[in-house]
Amino acid sequence: RDVDHVLDCLMDSEVNVDRVRPSSILNDTCVKHVVQRSGMKFVWTKLSETREKVNKDATCRAPDPALLRPRPPVVTIMGHVDHGKTTLLDSLRMSQITATEAGGITQHIGAFTVRLASGETMTVLDTPGHAAFSSIRARGASITDIVILVVAADDGVMEQTVESIRHARNAGVPMIVAVNKCDKVQADPERVKRELLSHDVVCEEFGGDIQAVHVSALKGEGLVELTEAVVALAEVLELKAEHEGAMEGAVIESRTDKGKGPVSTALVQRGALQRGAVLVSGRTWAKVRFMFDESGSTLDRAEPSQAVQICGWRELPSAGESILEVETEQRAREVLSYRLYLDDQQRQSEEQKTVSANQEAHQTQYRLQRAELAHLSWRQRKNALYQKNKEVFNTRAKERDSEEGSPRLGIIIKGDVDGSVETLLNVLDSYDAQDQCELNLIHFGTGDVSETDVNLAHTFSGSVYGFNVSVPRPVQQMALKKGVPIKLQSVIYKLIEELKEELSQKLPSET
Ligand code: GDP
Repeated sequence: RDVDHVLDCLMDSEVNVDRVRPSSILNDTCVKHVVQRSGMKFVWTKLSETREKVNKDATCRAPDPALLRPRPPVVTIMGHVDHGKTTLLDSLRMSQITATEAGGITQHIGAFTVRLASGETMTVLDTPGHAAFSSIRARGASITDIVILVVAADDGVMEQTVESIRHARNAGVPMIVAVNKCDKVQADPERVKRELLSHDVVCEEFGGDIQAVHVSALKGEGLVELTEAVVALAEVLELKAEHEGAMEGAVIESRTDKGKGPVSTALVQRGALQRGAVLVSGRTWAKVRFMFDESGSTLDRAEPSQAVQICGWRELPSAGESILEVETEQRAREVLSYRLYLDDQQRQSEEQKTVSANQEAHQTQYRLQRAELAHLSWRQRKNALYQKNKEVFNTRAKERDSEEGSPRLGIIIKGDVDGSVETLLNVLDSYDAQDQCELNLIHFGTGDVSETDVNLAHTFSGSVYGFNVSVPRPVQQMALKKGVPIKLQSVIYKLIEELKEELSQKLPSET
């Protein structure tokens, strides 16, 4: 009787038959019967699962102006390819080895410190190219205080120079120009500065406030002047942070080290990081077992603007993710459980969105059918609708897969941080669909490839493209089972190449 009653309700109210929530008239068992009897597909949320979970996330602590003390600047080097970014990073790093006579091999941990004879320091992030854009814009907050824009004096302002300027501006990060390769005979530093004018980069000698330093990264000339320029700008910026209390920071780099296992480099932004601290980042946590600096020495404590490699992560956090210190391991688990709960909520609402879009179309169809059947008796109408509805549901899956018309490529974009996703979306925007394969952007976002992504891709017969993200094993297996292609890249242009390749494969071959 219950089942009949439910069917009556469904027919009369035009409820969305593929999303029914148990309510006073629809309990779980009842809905299951309907599913079995009608052959319809239902998705429903158990009431018990929708209970609000109390917010147990970790939060940044309130600022205490009394404890603010100056901190060193954090610098990123940007500029056109071949203009000398890597060489400049190397020579800045080398200048340290000789200056401190550490003599050891500096390890690549994602950042290093440059010290002036006066004792002032700067922290240089050494993630090159696009990854640098991303880390600048990590999680919307900038982890970089100053951009060193490298422009080769023999080549001048080029495409990526302009792009770098734009990125620095968007992130609200001030610049210093390093006019590089000044040792070359063809070098024309004055031309570089004139060219920069047309991009609103006005150097001091033209009355602006942007410092330009002539350097030769290759010969190590001008490096002290460059560092001094950075320190001077940092003073103007009045960079400050609390040097005590719980640590807050960001992940600059994460990887599995041959000797140390899973390690990530954290940039301390507030507070003091000490051995034994419990940290949460994204969906993982750590009890800090060891900390290392770039020369491989172990540390017991790290202060704001210092970058340290941390051992002790349960799973590796992603670059760009923020880090917060919590009181206990118990608290870390609580925070993670809350964050996973939020993910789940989000996944459900995303699913709901896709379902709703489909439903809207089907409801219109349903109403039209009703109008068609208006002359029938109430019971005849109900039966006809019931039959029709069943057909709709049985054929829906097929419809979706075999949509005729121009070839379509459904894609899902996942990137490590907003910056990279944005870059990819910009490229997609410029894709011209005329006479070609239609591009259907199903979904985009930051973070690792999730089950939702795979499900969505499966539903729309699409592929998942990931930039600098990973795919958890269960998701990999799921994609394999469902035949959903996942393409991962850590170089943006390669990802774009792959995408173009796939688009052209979808085109009908010319006859
Ligand atoms: P990136 O692509 O910006 O990282 O550029 P690289 O650091 O790889 O440098 C590109 C090329 O320029 C290399 O062959 C370097 O040796 C050369 N180069 C870099 N800096 C200088 C410099 O100051 N003077 C000269 N003569 N060559 C340089």
